Amino acid sequence: MAADKAKRGKARDGLTLVRWRCHIEGMADLRSICIYCGANAGTDPQYREAAENLGRAMAKAGIRLVYGGGSVGLMGIIARTVLQHGGEVTGIIPQFLKDREVMLKEVSELIVTEDMHERKRTMFDHSDAFVALPGGIGTLEEVVEIMTWAQLDQHEKPILIANINGFWDSLVALFERMTDDGFLHKAFLGAHVDLPVRFCDEVEAIIPTLQEAVAALPRHALEATSPEDMI
Ligand code: AMP
Repeated sequence: MAADKAKRGKARDGLTLVRWRCHIEGMADLRSICIYCGANAGTDPQYREAAENLGRAMAKAGIRLVYGGGSVGLMGIIARTVLQHGGEVTGIIPQFLKDREVMLKEVSELIVTEDMHERKRTMFDHSDAFVALPGGIGTLEEVVEIMTWAQLDQHEKPILIANINGFWDSLVALFERMTDDGFLHKAFLGAHVDLPVRFCDEVEAIIPTLQEAVAALPRHALEATSPEDMI
C-alpha cells in the first residue's frame, strides 16, 4: 500500500515536472484524449483489455477521457475504468442516442448535443489528441473525419490509431495503397514526426507517444476550435 502510494506520488511528481517545463517553455501539455471506439466490445478479449489498460493509464496520468458518453461496448468499458481509478470523464452524447447507447450517468461531465455534428465538434473542442481503438463504422467515420480536418490544415492535434491485435491492418493497407496510387501524401502517415497520424500496436505506448507529439506543439495548437464549415 505504502509502496503503491510512493509510486503514485513519484509518477505525479514526474507529471508535475513535465507540466511545469511545458508551462515555462510555452509548449503544449496533454490534458485530455478523445477516444473513438466501438459501441460493442468485440469478440476478442484483447479489445476489452486494451480499453481497460488505456483507461487505467489515463487515470494514473491525470489525463481526462473525452468520449461519446455511452455505457455500452468498449466506450462503457473505458469510461468506467477511468472513473474507477479516480480519473475524469467527459461524455458527449446527442439527445437521440441517450437511450440507444445507454448514456453513462456517472461521468464527471455530461454534454448532451442536438445532433451528431455538434457532438463531433464538441468532442474536438474538448480534446488535445485523438485515439482510435477497435470499433465499427462509427469509430472509423470519426477518426477518418478528424484526419481529413488535419489534412486540410484545420488543426495540428495528434491522432493515433491503436492497432490492437492488428485490428486496423487492412485500413493501414488501404492508406498505403492511397499513397502508392497518388491519392494521399506519404508524409501524412507519420513519415515525419511532426505530422499528425501515428500508429501504435501496444497500449502502453499510446500516452508517451501522444505526450511527445503534443510537447512538440506550440500551446496555441491545442486551443484550436473546430472549424464550423468542415462538417
Ligand atoms: P461503432 O464504432 O459503430 O460501434 O460506433 C462507435 C461510436 O461512433 C458510437 O458512439 C456511435 O454513436 C458513433 N457513430 C456512429 N455513427 C457515426 C457517424 N456517422 N458519425 C459519427 N459518429 C458515429
